[in-house]
Formats: sequence, C-alpha cells, structure tokens
Amino acid sequence: MKTLSTFSICILLMLQVMAQVNIIPKPRSLQETSTIHHFKELGIEINQASSSPEATYLAEYLQLNLLCPKLKIYTNSESKKTSSTKRIQLQVFNPDTLLPEGWYSLSTSPEGIIISATSRTGIFYGIQSLVQVLEYNTGSFSVPNFKIQGDFPTLAWRGMHLDVCRHFFSVDFVKRYIDLLAAHKMNRFHWHLTEDQGWRIEIKKYPKLTEIGAWRNGSMVGHYKDQTFDSIRYGGFYTQDQIRDVVAYAAQRHITVVPEIEMPGHALAALTAYPAFSCTGGPFEVAKSWGVFDDVYCPKEATFEFLENILDEVCALFPGEYIHIGGDECPKIRWKECANCQQKMKENGLIDEHELQSYFIQRIEKYLNSKGKKIIGWDEILEGGLAPNAAVMSWRGEEGGIAAAKQNHYVVMSPGSHCYFDHYQGDKTKEPIAIGGFTPLEKVYSYQPIPASLDVNQRMYILGAQANLWTEYITSEAQAEYMVLPRMSALAEVLWSGNEDRNFEDFKKRLSPFLVKLEKRGYHVRTLD
Ligand SMILES: [Zn+2]
Repeated sequence: MKTLSTFSICILLMLQVMAQVNIIPKPRSLQETSTIHHFKELGIEINQASSSPEATYLAEYLQLNLLCPKLKIYTNSESKKTSSTKRIQLQVFNPDTLLPEGWYSLSTSPEGIIISATSRTGIFYGIQSLVQVLEYNTGSFSVPNFKIQGDFPTLAWRGMHLDVCRHFFSVDFVKRYIDLLAAHKMNRFHWHLTEDQGWRIEIKKYPKLTEIGAWRNGSMVGHYKDQTFDSIRYGGFYTQDQIRDVVAYAAQRHITVVPEIEMPGHALAALTAYPAFSCTGGPFEVAKSWGVFDDVYCPKEATFEFLENILDEVCALFPGEYIHIGGDECPKIRWKECANCQQKMKENGLIDEHELQSYFIQRIEKYLNSKGKKIIGWDEILEGGLAPNAAVMSWRGEEGGIAAAKQNHYVVMSPGSHCYFDHYQGDKTKEPIAIGGFTPLEKVYSYQPIPASLDVNQRMYILGAQANLWTEYITSEAQAEYMVLPRMSALAEVLWSGNEDRNFEDFKKRLSPFLVKLEKRGYHVRTLD
C-alpha cells in the first residue's frame, strides 16, 4: 500500500507539472519541471539578420496579445555589448539534412529563452509554441521551465480551405483566418475564389468577371429543402492589390496560399459575365441557389484562350507551386448537345464526355506546367484519365486519394467524413443551421490521413490533409470561426503530431487553455462538450 500511495503522489505531482505546458499541436519530447521563470524585461536576439521578420512578428504579437511593451530586437553583435536584459534568442543554425523541415528546439531557463532551428520556418513554429505558454502580468513575464528537444511536423500539407463565394469574407477576416492557421502551425490556405454564386478575384483583362460575376440578386435563406430566397443584392470581390497583400501576410506566417479557380463546372458567375464561353450562349444569372448547375464552360478554343488569360494573372499573384483548378461536379448534359463539344471529341478521338473533361483538365495542366505551376483538383479529375502531373484532393471519401497514390500521383486528403467543417459538430437541434453531416471534435481527432491499404512507397504520395469550410450556410465571420474552432485544433494535431501518443483526453486538457487564449484574441469558439 505504501508503494501505491507514493506512486499516487508521484502521479498527482506529475499531473500538476503537466498542467503548465499545454501546447497544441502536441510537441515531441517535452520535458518540464514545476519551476516558473520570471523576467522583468525581455528582449529578442537574432543570430542571423534573415530572421528579423520572425523577431518583428514575435515582438508585435506579444505587444498586441500580452499587452506588454514592444520588445527590443538585438543582433548577435549588439548583444555582447548591451544590457543585462534577458533574451528570447532566435537561433538559426546551419541546415542539417538529417533534420526534418520545420524542425525546432525550445528551452527556457533563468537566463532566458532559446528557440533554435535550421530554418526561419522552424523559428516561426518555435515562436508559436512559446506564445502558448508565455504570460505577462503586472509588469513581469513568466514562463514554465521546460525543454522541447526537437519538434517537427509529421505531414507536409497541413491545410485549411475557405469558400468566399457562397458568402463573402473581408480581407481583415481572411487575415484573421490565416492567423488561426499560423497558431496551429498549419501551412496551406486554400482560397476558393470562384463559384456559380460569385466570382471573387479581380482579373484585369476581363473586368466583367467582377463587375457582373461578383454579384447576385438574392440568396437562399434557410435550408435547401425550403427553397426560400431573399432578393437582396449580395457580393464582393478582392482587388489584385488586396490579394497581393493577403499572399504576403500569409508568407510572413510561412503559409502558402493555394487559389482555386473552378473549371469546367461551377462556372455560372463567369458565364453570366461572358456567356460566349458556354455551350448555349446564355443568357445566365449568377446563382442564388446552392447546388450543381448544368451550364459549364464549353471546351472550345476561345474558352481555353479566356481561361489561359485568367490563369496568367492568377499565376502572377500566387507564388506557390499549386493552382487548384476545381474539376468537380461538372454535369455533361450541355456537352452532349453541343456541336462544338461533339466536334472537339471527334477531332481528338474522345469516346465520351468524361474523356472530354479529362482532355479539358489536361490542356489546362499543360498550360500551367509551361508556366512552372502544378495543378491540383478535386477527385473527379480521375474520371476519364488523370492529367500526367496532377495532384488530387480527395473529398468523396478516401478512394480517389488511394487510386491516385497507386498511380504515383500526389494526394491531399480531405474526406467529407472527417474534414468537412461545414458539417454539424453537435446536436443538430442546438447548433446553427449547417449543410448536414455529423463531424464532432473526437471524430476529427481520430482521423488517419494515410490509408492502411497503401504500401510503403504509395504512402509517400499522401502529402497531408486539409479541412474544407464551404459557406452556403455560414453567413457571418463569427459563425465561420465557430465552425472551425476547435475542430481545426484536432486536425492540426493529427497532421503535426502523428499517431504516437495520440490521446483524446490529453488533447482536450491541453486544448482548453489554448481556446481561452484564442477567445482573448476575439475568436468565436465552440464550447467543449
Ligand atoms: Zn460546348
């Protein structure tokens, strides 16, 4: 009994110690003691001028969120001469090829705080861990005594998507959303910019895309089954200057923006502005209803020229390697009845309209490859033959992703079962209206992005996963935040921390203080069940 009670006391002590360093996503190899270090003043010291953007980010972040004075930034050489102020040292040391991308270490002591990494990205991730545990109260900083001896992500693509077409979101909100990704050490922002219900990106060569295509004369109210509409003009778009600003903002946070320009389906807003690129010639109306529409781009030469001109401007705005071209939910009814489409099939020896869709995507891929870009599309791009270099985003379950990986194509998993954050996350009768489904926090946390049916070589093709936020039923910024918080915390941990020690109860314990911090930053968070 004596042994048992000593053991119990040890467990209690350990739990008390554990309560101090709560980091989401869970770091590898965390060691901590119950000691708290206090610092009257802190400065930031960088050993390489290249990490001054991270130092500036940290100083501004702490000033804004901890309400502390702005921390002075010292270079290595200044540091030797100057005061006794304790430091947060940001140390980039020579890249070691054995260390994974994004790797960092973090330790605290009475002498200060050290974040070391092989890259600026690693420094940034170390900063994200630090800001979860650093406090400032009554003129003094405090931080627990702990050490993370090497933390790094399991999967390379850790993404969040945002549909700004069904409902439009301001630049300020998009930046707040990007800040959420940064807090979770996520690194891909998939910006869904074009749809039947609105075209949201300024294209200089085709001004009507936003003059006409960005606006609809009403929206669906309530659930789809009710078929009720208002007649309020609704819309908005981002100028190219605003887009450059968002892309730069994301880059400062080590996040790549992946724009989505939908084709050949979900094109009604573009066709309302430019009906000549449809099969029938229109006229059309920017959609008020949600769903899938029969009028899609007609794959004639003029349409390819139109889309290539648009993609030229898109490529110039987004420096990332991938352009998302949609490719999903494209009805073939117009193509079956269109002389241009049937002629195109004949000329190219295409046996059916699925092959015509594949031809369409392959033409676009070839064009984008010639501009140094790669395409990614929803899993329908597998139908009729996958374009040679395309990556697949698997949304209708994991089967599309599995099929693509078996053909040695890169895959981002985003199955509706675990990664659709427009689904309900609790009791339908108590939640705001949602599209359907049921994807509670625990289910997201249980997600396994790498299918067991793939062999070791095929698994390499799973880049990672992302959650999608379609906004048919998400009408406000507050609701958008509510739908992703805290489910994105669960997904972030799945993607960063992997399977080792995955424990939902432990996750929830660490999650609570993390969410309190997000609420202090003004985010709308769903209460934990
Ligand atoms: Zn046609």
